Amino acid sequence: MEKHWGYSAFRPLQQEIIRSVLSGSDTLAILATGSGKSLCYQLPALCHGGLTLVISPLIALMKDQVDDLNHRGIPAAAWTSAQDAGDLAGIRNGLIDGTLRILFVSPERSVQPAFLACLKKTPLRLIAIDEAHCISAWGHNFRPEYRQLITLRRSFPQVTVIALTATATPDVRKDIIQQLDLKRPREFVGSFDRKNLRYCVREKKNPLVFIAHYLGQHRTGQGIIYCLSRNDTEEIARDLQKRGFSALAYHAGLSRQALESVQDSFLKGTVQVICATVAFGMGIDKPDVRFVIHHTLPRSLEAYYQETGRAGRDGLSGECILLFSKSDAARLRSLAAHDSPGGSALRIALAKLQAMTDFCETTSCRRRQILRYFGEAYPHDTCGSCDTCENPVGMADCTEAACLIARCILALSGRFGSDLISDVLRGSKGTKITGNGFDLLSVYGKGKQYSRTQYRSWIAELVRQGFLERTGDQYPVIGLTARGRELLAGRVTVMLPAPVPGPAAPGAAPVQDTADAVLFEKLKGLRKELAGKYSVLPYMIFPDKCLKEMAAIRPLDRAGLATISGVGPYKLTRYGPAFLEVLRAA
Ligand code: ADP
Ligand code: ZN
Repeated sequence: MEKHWGYSAFRPLQQEIIRSVLSGSDTLAILATGSGKSLCYQLPALCHGGLTLVISPLIALMKDQVDDLNHRGIPAAAWTSAQDAGDLAGIRNGLIDGTLRILFVSPERSVQPAFLACLKKTPLRLIAIDEAHCISAWGHNFRPEYRQLITLRRSFPQVTVIALTATATPDVRKDIIQQLDLKRPREFVGSFDRKNLRYCVREKKNPLVFIAHYLGQHRTGQGIIYCLSRNDTEEIARDLQKRGFSALAYHAGLSRQALESVQDSFLKGTVQVICATVAFGMGIDKPDVRFVIHHTLPRSLEAYYQETGRAGRDGLSGECILLFSKSDAARLRSLAAHDSPGGSALRIALAKLQAMTDFCETTSCRRRQILRYFGEAYPHDTCGSCDTCENPVGMADCTEAACLIARCILALSGRFGSDLISDVLRGSKGTKITGNGFDLLSVYGKGKQYSRTQYRSWIAELVRQGFLERTGDQYPVIGLTARGRELLAGRVTVMLPAPVPGPAAPGAAPVQDTADAVLFEKLKGLRKELAGKYSVLPYMIFPDKCLKEMAAIRPLDRAGLATISGVGPYKLTRYGPAFLEVLRAA
């Protein structure tokens, strides 16, 4: 690890996972994005002879990984349709003479007879299945072609298999084991807590003004703005450009060449923000993304976790801001119904969307809620690093208001959603109210003093507390539970977020890093220069984290520089002298 990567210590669970693989056990590794999954199969690939086959769904990702491995002096290649005959001949030779150590392929390729025949000629030692959640229909990214992997598994029954993913609920974990027929697998589940990320949800009002304001305050860090549609990406990018920001759009409608050039600018740091559909990010492994803004809420907490997980992979602070609106949620519900009309796929999609909406509407710690979703208990009540923890909403005795809501639900026979309930209570004169005679109900207009938003948040909280239940998928309706009836009987007290028109969550505060900022900028400048000279991406020379450490510790000689995490012998020789020069001059 020191020789090829320059790391001096394992990250949590890496060592355990690597030992498990080396001992020949099938292994399931669930580690959050950025926790260092790649090392878990790349290091074993070097420890024993033979080939490690890596199954990955994304060809773009393969290229980066291969470049990175080759740059570290490790013989690796990707077998894709982008390769020409010469490349493929080279790969075949490497397989036969055993010099190739790591080969990346797509799941489809891995089960093609011609490929399998070629694989039979080489001592295959390990099969690593990346993004393993794609095999499960319960996952958020089901890819039917992953189901064929069982063929690969059966063709090499003696070979150890390691399945890796960043997101898997307990159901998905079970599914992965079953579908891949893992034999008495050892499971390692890392914490999903990304401590360096701050989570914040804001009501979506004038999103462009908010984003421009945010960018104005954060001119140095790069970030991603996730949008729902191609149009949104282009509109937002155009608007930001007009306001003088450096922004580009990215979506599947662009030519391959354009996509590569946008990605390249982002990696090189020549553009500050990418306004992208979710197509962006899977193929990139950029450690120093400082913020991720969701212009529209994602379809599931898995997706949210994965997308926000692209921030702060270097362990430095990252900010995740989601702009939430009820109408976006409704739009996604109807899109889901359109994509899978009926059946279990729709049910799964809507349940995921509901969990996502609940996350946005919660008044308790957001980190806690994410972790609970992934089956992890968070040992604290508050995390101190999400908007709800920073601005806790006080709870108050709201029994009266809760009873009013319950009476209204009863009067509506539990057949309507929160907005209609609040319209009745607020005495709305809309046709949906008067046309149905709801203005004649005894509760009509009895709760005028509270806003619609207030009712939504209370109803969501009453659902969480078990007084109400939400049923119906596409058009959720609110009903009373047995506990809710007790409320009507006046037997319980209900604590709800205090009914103040709560100040909007303030914009996320910039996080201060302690390292000497001026020196850090100088080191970054040198890195950019070297990256140009050697035609590599800046972070491949040294990641930000490494430069920060240099700026803080200020080593003045080779031995000192070697103590910085991420500076291995290879990079020390190649880049060390240039960096020492800057460090000595500081
Ligand atoms: P994942 O695949 O889990 O998202 P990666 O394997 O891409 O994560 O690793 C994330 C980052 O952490 C990379 O920049 C990698 O170089 C770094 N990294 C991995 N393992 C270690 C380690 N033991 N020490 C220091 N850095 C590490
Ligand atoms: Zn929190």
